[in-house]
Amino acid sequence: MPKMKFLLVTDLDNTLVGDDEATQVFNQRLQSMRSQICLVYATGRSHASTCELIAQKQLLAPDSTIAGVGSEIYQDATLDLDWAEHLSQDWDKMAIASLAQQFPQLQPQSLKEQNPWKISYCLEPAAENSSIIQELQQKLTGSGLAAQIIFSSNRDVDILPQTSNKGNALTYLQKRLQIPSEATLVCGDSGNDISMFEQDVRGVIVANAMSELLAWHRECGTENHYLAGSACAGGIIEGMTYFWGF
Ligand SMILES: [Mg+2]
Repeated sequence: MPKMKFLLVTDLDNTLVGDDEATQVFNQRLQSMRSQICLVYATGRSHASTCELIAQKQLLAPDSTIAGVGSEIYQDATLDLDWAEHLSQDWDKMAIASLAQQFPQLQPQSLKEQNPWKISYCLEPAAENSSIIQELQQKLTGSGLAAQIIFSSNRDVDILPQTSNKGNALTYLQKRLQIPSEATLVCGDSGNDISMFEQDVRGVIVANAMSELLAWHRECGTENHYLAGSACAGGIIEGMTYFWGF
């Protein structure tokens, strides 16, 4: 792989994807400097579902994909086994799944959204959802089970190894590529993107971001985080101009 200067890590749904016209403008912009930029998609979707979306929305082929909220990393169709081994330490999927069964509100997502390093549920949107999540986390901790819960869009509940999530996965790639903080840009719109903004990187929050990410930005945002005026891919383009000058 030739030495790349920039690392662009973007969420897909409601970030790169959501405004088809803006997505195509982004593609053209990126194509002209494709050899300088390592392009990574970081999504809650499974790898198979990501490939379908790439075809359907005519997205550029990425250099790597962080799938299942950071639970898997792919280079083309090949699973990154070093990352998989890293996540497997101290991860007891069966015990965690059986504990989560005590919560009738948690509806398992379809089998194709599950993988060896991710257990996914849905919650009906409701005011008490965050207290359900708190109680689940307390029970996991109380049982000595190492895991983290990622709650997005007041609906999606992903349980992952403690060492997982989109942010840790992107930092793993950033270190391997030896790309510095100021040349690394992350883009997102919802709660499962927060872990990316928490890394030592630059970040753009698209204008259509969910309330949980905007609340995080109000509380924890720094000069490394840019709140875009444009929605979806238009916001990514804005962020690239703001941080990188192009
Ligand atoms: Mg999203």
